[in-house]
Amino acid sequence: MTDRAPQPVDRQLPTEESRDLLALVREIAQREIRPKAAEEEDSGRFPREVFTLLSEAGLLGLPYPGEFGGGEQPYEVYLQVLEELAAARLTVGLGVSVHSLACHGLAGYGTKEQQGAHLPAMLGGGLLGAYCLSEPASGSDAASLTTKAVRDGDDWIITGTKAWITHGGVADFYTVLARTGAQGPKGITAFLVPGDAEGLTAAVPEKKMGMKGSPTAQLHFDGVRVPDARRIGEEGQGFTIALAALDAGRLGIAACAIGVAQAALDEALAYALDRKQFGHPIADFQGLRFMLADMATKIEAGRALYLAAARLRDAGKPFSRQAAMAKLFCTDAAMSVTTDAVQVLGGYGYTADFPVERLMREAKVLQIVEGTNQIQRMVIARHLAGPETR
Ligand SMILES: Cc1cc2nc3c(=O)[nH]c(=O)nc-3n(C[C@H](O)[C@H](O)[C@H](O)COP(=O)(O)OP(=O)(O)OC[C@H]3O[C@@H](n4cnc5c(N)ncnc54)[C@H](O)[C@@H]3O)c2cc1C
Repeated sequence: MTDRAPQPVDRQLPTEESRDLLALVREIAQREIRPKAAEEEDSGRFPREVFTLLSEAGLLGLPYPGEFGGGEQPYEVYLQVLEELAAARLTVGLGVSVHSLACHGLAGYGTKEQQGAHLPAMLGGGLLGAYCLSEPASGSDAASLTTKAVRDGDDWIITGTKAWITHGGVADFYTVLARTGAQGPKGITAFLVPGDAEGLTAAVPEKKMGMKGSPTAQLHFDGVRVPDARRIGEEGQGFTIALAALDAGRLGIAACAIGVAQAALDEALAYALDRKQFGHPIADFQGLRFMLADMATKIEAGRALYLAAARLRDAGKPFSRQAAMAKLFCTDAAMSVTTDAVQVLGGYGYTADFPVERLMREAKVLQIVEGTNQIQRMVIARHLAGPETR
């Protein structure tokens, strides 16, 4: 890693409070998160204590109402916080985004009693959440999920397997989508399941290409009993709840992608200014200058796109199409920028002595999670041309 600390990004922030917030996040990121990122990603250590610290600093509930312990920040501010965290370490930025996704259902569709009972601990009480939609045989076609919840008096009994769950096995609560009715999207209901529920076990985490510090695991529900008071929304409303969370979550992924890309550009630029060949810093050569210019342009364009979508959301306007566009563009930009960063560093870029190879491996997952980029294109095309008629 280069010793030079990256220059702060020139951000547009709406208030003095949000500028102070970003300064605090940047300080935590540079002091507590970035220095351990390479070593812990290599060893696969999950930094649970960082999430506790973020919760204590009020950073795990930023876009949620103050009434229940949230930070009441606009989405445009929350996303820039995520970007800073992801630039320091994707496991943390994406982890906060997933936690926020897991809180979305209860915050948006829970009753006041449920919100009062659970949200304060979820948003600022040190708890960590996970979001359970995917299954071994149901990924992009999420509405085909088969994990079942069957009514038993005042309880539900959940049985089935969820797959690819970020924080699987380490989370304190799980927002779980399960089938309570007929096939298809209308037969799905959402539940808030405690992490220590009897009958709930996590498999050994997946061995992944990157983000090795973030546990991704299958979860087995073997007759897990959940009171009806933990059902979120109406019976059959689960898929609507899941998709609403994903619209907001996709913006989180977009912001994380720009954080990863920015970190890669910062490394590439510092290296190019330092490394000499043919008697000159390699940053003098037009071939690399143009590459750096293109990288920076993609990052600025991506940031502008996710912020435009966030501002629509903050204004209470529809933003689903723009969220899909931001997720698609920003994650493709991150893949391209991190790949170019490896190129700028030459052979050194291909080694673990510099972070750019890790950033390139991390960028890849962002094109897959919360709807692959093929699925984002389908969403965008449906907004443009309506549903497919074939
Ligand atoms: C590290 C990691 C963390 C994750 N975290 C979570 C989590 O916390 N919670 C959760 O619920 N899920 C999580 N996921 C799952 C993730 O959302 C899915 O992997 C993703 O939705 C794709 O599903 P799939 O892997 O089953 O691929 P598939 O759906 O099998 O897709 C395989 C390929 O086919 C393409 N494809 C599928 N259908 C179409 C179509 N109609 N048109 C064109 N192309 C298509 C896809 O784009 C992809 O390229 C995570 C995944 C990973 C890798």
